[in-house]
Amino acid sequence: MRSIETTPLEEWIRLRIGKEGGQLARSEIEAWQLGALKETLAFVKERSPFYKEHLSGMEPEDFDCLSDVGRIPFMKASDIVEQGNRLICVSQNEIRRIVTLDTSGTTGNPKRIHYTDGDQELTIDFFHHGMATFTEAGDRVLVLLPGRMPGSIGDLLRTGLGRKGVEAIVYGIVDDCEAVMDIILERNITGIVGIPQQLAALAQSERSSLVKDIGKLRSVLLSTDYVSPAISERIGRAWGCSVYEHYGMTEMGLGGGVFCKAFTGYHLREADMLFEIIDPLTGSNVPDGTFGEVVFTTLTRTAMPLIRYRTGDWSRFLSKACSCGTILKTMERVRHRITAAVVLEDGLVLTMPMLEDILFTIDEITDFDANIDKAAGQLDILVNTSGEPEWLKPVILSKLENSILKDTISAGSLKINIGRQGCKAPDIKAIRKRNLMEINRRTDNDNIVQII
Ligand SMILES: [Zn+2]
Repeated sequence: MRSIETTPLEEWIRLRIGKEGGQLARSEIEAWQLGALKETLAFVKERSPFYKEHLSGMEPEDFDCLSDVGRIPFMKASDIVEQGNRLICVSQNEIRRIVTLDTSGTTGNPKRIHYTDGDQELTIDFFHHGMATFTEAGDRVLVLLPGRMPGSIGDLLRTGLGRKGVEAIVYGIVDDCEAVMDIILERNITGIVGIPQQLAALAQSERSSLVKDIGKLRSVLLSTDYVSPAISERIGRAWGCSVYEHYGMTEMGLGGGVFCKAFTGYHLREADMLFEIIDPLTGSNVPDGTFGEVVFTTLTRTAMPLIRYRTGDWSRFLSKACSCGTILKTMERVRHRITAAVVLEDGLVLTMPMLEDILFTIDEITDFDANIDKAAGQLDILVNTSGEPEWLKPVILSKLENSILKDTISAGSLKINIGRQGCKAPDIKAIRKRNLMEINRRTDNDNIVQII
C-alpha cells in the first residue's frame, strides 16, 4: 500500500481531459495536449493580429506530435508590452479582468494581462482541486494575499475553497502582525496561504508558540516568491505544520502548480498549460533532470492565450517519478530569475536565493538585503535580526565562508561587509516580494548574466 496520497490534481486532470475511468496514462495527457495546442493555434491565428504574423506559415494540422511545439517561435514579456491589444482574441465586452504588471521597460507601455470569465473559472477550478491536497470540508483557511478586488488571487481562492466546503478568511497582505495572530489563534485556523517572508516573520513573532500549543493549524501554503528551504523549515518547526509551495504567475492566470504530500516539487496544471524546460542559449528542450528556463503555453485560455512564453524562471523536471505515484510531471522548486544572477570574477553565479539558503539557516535573521559591487569585490549584507546583530557577525561570516562562496572568499576576491537594515524591528509591510534584482543595484549591466 502506498503511504503518500497521490496528488488530487491527477484525478482532476483525468476528468478534465475526458478520460472515463481507470488509470490515466502519460500518453493520454500528451495526446490531449496536442489536440488542445492545435485548437489554440487555430484560434489565435484567426483572432489576433499579432499571432497572425507571429505564426505565419505555421498550420495547426501539420502538428503530428507534441514535440512539434519546438517549431513555434518563443514569446517574451516584451511581446506583451509592445503588442498590447493585438494579442487579444475576444471582443472587449468579454474581458472581465485586466491585470497591469510593473515593467521596467523604457517603452512606457504597461504590461497587461486580460481574462474572460471563463479564464478566471479555470483558475478557480485549479485552486479548488489543488488546495484539496491539504484541506478538507469544514477547514478554515486564512489567506494573506490580496483579495479585495473581484478576480484577485484572494478572491479566486475564496471561491475555489468554498466549492470544497472550506471557509476562506481573506485578510490581504500582512500589515499588522498582532491582528493576524489574533485571527490565527481565535478563529481556529487550520491552513494559511501567504508570502514566504511574511509568514516567516509571523512565525517568529511573540505569540507564535501558541499556534503550536493550540495545534489547530495543519498546513501552510507559500506562494508568489522563491521559497528558501530554510524558511520553509523555520515555519514548519515554529508552528508544527506541513509547509507546501505553489508556483504561479499572473501570465499563467495566477496558478501553475502545487506540491503534493511528497514535497518534492510542483505538479502542474497540465490540462490548462503545456510546460517546457529549455536551454536559454539554444532554445532547445532539455532532458528531464537538466536545469533550464521554464516556458509555458496556455491550452484553454481565450482572452489572451500565450504561446511558448519564456518566464525567465530557472528550474527542471525531475527525472524520477514522484513518490506520490502520479503520472503527472514534477517540476522542482523554481531557483531564481535568470536575469537576477550575477557572475563573479571566478565564474561563480550568485543569486539572491543562494544567499537566502545560506543566511536563513540562522534563526535570528528575520530578513536581509544584499548588494554586490563586483568592481570593488564587495558584497554588502544588511540584516534584520531578532537579537543584537553584533554577535551574529562572526556567525554570518562563518556560514558564508563554509558555503558555495568558500573559494571566492578565501581567494580574497570577495570581501563581505555586514550591517543592519534601517529599521530595528522588521517592518512586516516591507517584507513582501523580495526584489531579486536588488543584488544588481550597484553593478553595471554587463555584470548581469545576459543569456536571454
Ligand atoms: Zn507527487
